[in-house]
Amino acid sequence: MADIGFIGLGNMGGPMASNLLAAGYRVKVFDLVQERLDLLASKGGDAVESPSEAVRGAEFCISMLPASAHVRGLYLESARDAALIDQIDPTTLVIDCSTIAPYAAREVAAAASARGIDMLDAPVSGGTAGAEAGTLTFIVGGDAAALERARPLLEAMGANIFHAGVSGAGQVGKICNNMLLAILMTGTAEALSLGVANGLDPARLSSIMRDSSGGNWALEKYNPWPGVMDGVPASRGYSGGFLTDLMIKDLGLAMEASAATGKGVPMGSLALSLYRMHREQLDAGGLDFSSIQRLYGSGSGVSGG
Ligand code: NAD
Repeated sequence: MADIGFIGLGNMGGPMASNLLAAGYRVKVFDLVQERLDLLASKGGDAVESPSEAVRGAEFCISMLPASAHVRGLYLESARDAALIDQIDPTTLVIDCSTIAPYAAREVAAAASARGIDMLDAPVSGGTAGAEAGTLTFIVGGDAAALERARPLLEAMGANIFHAGVSGAGQVGKICNNMLLAILMTGTAEALSLGVANGLDPARLSSIMRDSSGGNWALEKYNPWPGVMDGVPASRGYSGGFLTDLMIKDLGLAMEASAATGKGVPMGSLALSLYRMHREQLDAGGLDFSSIQRLYGSGSGVSGG
């Protein structure tokens, strides 16, 4: 099995690296947070002290970092002596799974290409549950042959793999998906709140809408009303999951893509305003994004009723 360097072991990267270990890969792991390194070491990962050590001799380098600045910083600016991209062997395939701006993904991929290194942008959908279960969806931008080389690794971490197009296209696909997710989640929270205010039981209303023409992913897998669905963030005080801060970041990327092309996104724009209001009024940046229900009121909520 190939050697992999894995950088960024957070809510997503940690379980993804664990699944590679479970599939039999040798994985050198690195994160800035010692506890995250220790956790992966306890699962068989080889904890190293720098990104340079993680990529040394690796056939694949995978990164899973918060945002564009972290990815640019890691590959183009990071190390004391030389940028990481200058320390990666041309035989190593670089796969960045972070959700970042398409232009940042293209910039890093171009720097890699100038050094003879193949790089894919491969952001994911499916949340922490998908990362843990190994059922993520990968939305990939870059060379088709490089994707075929990466496929066995992606299959160890995910259930669906889409080739969106050239470098940066994976990020465009991911940004469009998350903008739609934010719109669906706010719409679902709004409808639940209206129904409950008019006397309906939230679980019964959820079933009605799920099996009618309003059915959507939030109602099927991620109900935002506390107590309606087991095992989702809404039923554990909106802890874990996909943070409101990260959704606001992704909606910001959608606004950048809109500004770059002049293509209007009024619904996405409104969803971003609602999420910003939610973060400011209810200090919700660190809560799962389905906590937008609280902005509308959810029985245990803060506003509305
Ligand atoms: P996270 O904040 O939990 O993890 C990020 C990790 O990167 C942290 O452990 C941090 O210490 C580490 N890190 C930051 N800079 C580093 C550096 N220079 N070197 C090494 N490690 C570094 O974030 P997450 O939830 O795992 O999300 C990661 C990415 O995946 C984000 O782009 C996010 O938008 C995307 N994403 C998240 C989810 C989700 O449900 N959480 C779902 C899909 C996509």
